[in-house]
Amino acid sequence: MESTKPFELTKAGGDISLDFMNTANFHGTEHHQEWLKTQADLVEWSEFIGLRANDVVQAGDIDLKEILKLRESMYGIIIGTLHQTTINEDHLTTVNHWLQQVAAYVRISQTEDGTFVKELKNLKGLKQIVFPVVLAFEELLTSSHIKKVKQCNSERCEWLFIDKTKNQSKQWCTMDVCGNREKAKRFYHSKKK
Ligand SMILES: [Zn+2]
Repeated sequence: MESTKPFELTKAGGDISLDFMNTANFHGTEHHQEWLKTQADLVEWSEFIGLRANDVVQAGDIDLKEILKLRESMYGIIIGTLHQTTINEDHLTTVNHWLQQVAAYVRISQTEDGTFVKELKNLKGLKQIVFPVVLAFEELLTSSHIKKVKQCNSERCEWLFIDKTKNQSKQWCTMDVCGNREKAKRFYHSKKK
């Protein structure tokens, strides 16, 4: 059976919140590509990304529309940060609303070596997928990693990723997809001259 998905999933973001934002491409434009069309797609994505989830999708669970609204707000905040433009207040309100709910599930516990870890406890249904993403987003925004977030340089892709290279030289989300395609294009154009 041929896949009806607009693109292949990757873990190119280097952070689950960025990978979550990368479940769409060309956000909110006429070329918008959507990977998350159903709640089942969200579960499939979570399995791909390695988020452990049991008994996901329960009766009366979070509406996918709300989850996509959250994703677009997160995306808006990142794009505003990248372009150093004023961030739409509605995006911050949306994310803060989610953060408030997530906070009720945050616990700290001590590990064997005496250090502390922050964990999400007692999550059920789609919260098991969405809440870790919201928490990761908060951690990303308030960490120094936010300065390393970039958007893919390919015209055909606008995925976000953390550039973990030493000299901050990464241009494309993935070398095997966007990098090779863009290099081939440049090679072709240089030959034409
Ligand atoms: Zn790309």
